[in-house]
Amino acid sequence: MAQYDKKRLKALSDLDERKNEIYELLPRCREIDKSISLIGINISKILISKPNNFENQLINLKNDLENFKSEKEHIFKKNKIPFDFLQPIYECKKCNDTGYLESGERCSCFKQQIINQLYEMSNMKYMLAKENFETFDMTVFSDKPYNNERLTPRQNMMRILGICENFFVSFDNTKSNLLFYGSTGLGKTFMCNCLAKALIDKGKTVIYQTAFKILEIVEEHKFNKHHEHELNKENYNLLFTSDLLIIDDLGTELINSFTNSELFNIINSRLISGRSTVISTNLSMEQLANTYSDRIISRIFNKYISCKFYGNDLRWENS
Ligand SMILES: [Zn+2]
Repeated sequence: MAQYDKKRLKALSDLDERKNEIYELLPRCREIDKSISLIGINISKILISKPNNFENQLINLKNDLENFKSEKEHIFKKNKIPFDFLQPIYECKKCNDTGYLESGERCSCFKQQIINQLYEMSNMKYMLAKENFETFDMTVFSDKPYNNERLTPRQNMMRILGICENFFVSFDNTKSNLLFYGSTGLGKTFMCNCLAKALIDKGKTVIYQTAFKILEIVEEHKFNKHHEHELNKENYNLLFTSDLLIIDDLGTELINSFTNSELFNIINSRLISGRSTVISTNLSMEQLANTYSDRIISRIFNKYISCKFYGNDLRWENS
């Protein structure tokens, strides 16, 4: 909540700065604002004391108010100042940086804020600003045939981009799941970032974490039940309840029967409750099949849309 107070104060002090700028430039605006606030005071005075004939006085005052407002509008127009220039600019338009909606519910930005802190995803904001659907550059992918693949890497990426955009657009209705596989440096992370960013902006709660870290949280929850930290419990629950879970780097975690069954539990529970999951891995299909239990593999093969990433490592290609 302290962070929200800070955000709101910042929005208001930014607003003050803009106001002063306008007043310097157009002194008449200062006079108008003064008159407007004076009228406001007079209106409340009259409403409290209700003198004789107060209805007429109110009508006059309201007329004056309208006149001042339209004069100001006119000045703004003439000087090409956007109409909302003297409105505070809040980071979250849904809750005006209060963290709460009008209904009293917590705003989605607040929930995501908590997730970011719990999951140490504070670096995510910077990353997400840089990598999103709008910054996606198809030309970095080669348009020459690659090995025995039917599509060139660029055609393949266009196909994957289409799948991802569709995943995003129909997120609320279709509850689909994605598997990104292929070696590193081919845009898997970029695509995960795009999805995370687009959905967070849409007000969804997103957890984006490596398989290693996810299983660490599960282990802490299972083996330390009685001394478990409150935060870890929250972390654990979010693995099942977040709108989207992105499991990054599957295959780099410790793999044994315990992690296999816990992983199955997460994947399967989310399928049953209709919550989407995206899995990203450097393993090939064969390696996946050799590494994980049949139940996991059958869920992934049957319920996930597979996107194979291939081509030359981009990090080397265009430097
Ligand atoms: Zn909000």
